[in-house]
Amino acid sequence: VAELNETQDPRRRSWVETANARDTDFPVQNLPFGVFRRPGGAPQGGVAIGDQILDLAAGLSEGLFEGDVASAAQAAAGAGLNPLMALESGAVSALRRRLSDLLRSGGPDEARVKPLADRLLVSMADATMELPAAIGDYTDFSCSTHHMMRMGGGTVRPVFLHLPVGYHGRASSLRVSGAEVVRPLGQVAGKDGQAVFGPEPQLDFELEFAAFVGRGNALGRPIPIGEAEDHIFGYCLLNDWSARAIQFFEMALGPFLGKSFLTTISPWVVTHEAMAPFHTTAFVRPEADPPIPAYLRSEADRRAGGLDVRLEALLSTEAMRRRGDPPQRIVATNFRYIYWTLAQMLAHHASGGCDMNPGDLFASGTVSGPEDEAKACLMEANERGTRALALPGGESRLWLEDGDEVQIRGRAEREGFVPIGFGPCDGRVAAAEAKA
Ligand code: CA
Repeated sequence: VAELNETQDPRRRSWVETANARDTDFPVQNLPFGVFRRPGGAPQGGVAIGDQILDLAAGLSEGLFEGDVASAAQAAAGAGLNPLMALESGAVSALRRRLSDLLRSGGPDEARVKPLADRLLVSMADATMELPAAIGDYTDFSCSTHHMMRMGGGTVRPVFLHLPVGYHGRASSLRVSGAEVVRPLGQVAGKDGQAVFGPEPQLDFELEFAAFVGRGNALGRPIPIGEAEDHIFGYCLLNDWSARAIQFFEMALGPFLGKSFLTTISPWVVTHEAMAPFHTTAFVRPEADPPIPAYLRSEADRRAGGLDVRLEALLSTEAMRRRGDPPQRIVATNFRYIYWTLAQMLAHHASGGCDMNPGDLFASGTVSGPEDEAKACLMEANERGTRALALPGGESRLWLEDGDEVQIRGRAEREGFVPIGFGPCDGRVAAAEAKA
């Protein structure tokens, strides 16, 4: 578990004024990494601060980083964060301390840095975000018993209590927030029992939380549970868009076209160290549940392997936007509800000998909770297609329609610390490419 240090000190403020706003996702205590483009420019690494991006290449050319910290800044300055993710956690931590010193009010070099603001900072409004890393492999787990219970009509299959169930997802169709979600085509069950090929009629979202792998492991060499968290570089939000009719017709082996058409992630990677104040106990499982197997059991993980992150999904329709209505919140949940910790997911993934690489991404599964408002996909909220969701202006939804936009938000808060957020994870549904 990452330790608290001066970089999370709630008294720190930034000379970038927007980083001190109460509702910003990116105060000086956060400092997430991402990949952005200046207008007409090439992809490059940066750090979010308020409504600005610190350009790491510009910082390097101004000589703001020295020695090993300069090497780490170099690893974060390119078109993908994989070289940074591959570093020892101490090197990433040293870079974070330097970034905090450069961007905080009263930092050792403030007099030198502030006059360079025009060269160092890029407004987020002028930048385009890219995927933060070259994501070699993407895995989606399904680790919410609340989700499985509702999807399964009131029962959870025992295997979900024995291990973190997952499947190999599709890395090529991962996109950052804002990418258009084209309604997929596929085979679904027709009324008369015949298979029908056409646009997905039951398009859904799944609100998920995800982790980027940092240092990997060699093939055939599992990651022990006690070391798993050291292999997690950081976190983002994820929408596992789901084509339910395609999914349930095809799923003889596992999810395939019902999931692979597109997955949206938030563009900023909030580091393991930035999340240090927001750790909490792992989910407390009911006494009747099977014991945690030894290879996934660790006292430190039980005590602090959970993360307290409030998660929301908001929906807006074309008509709502035309009228100027704000998006309606349709999910409010928390990552604390997830049955297995991220460390257990990673340790389980590698336990069979599979090698994990820097920049690999794995997601938690739909983060549903016990409350009605914590049903984190439409199929739970609409009670498996039977109860439509009421929206402003007399509209209702069973499933997503063309023009609908889903926004996912996350925020970590704890008394005595400055809250941090994850930035946007948004997508708007576009009509299917062609009719069958
Ligand atoms: Ca999922």
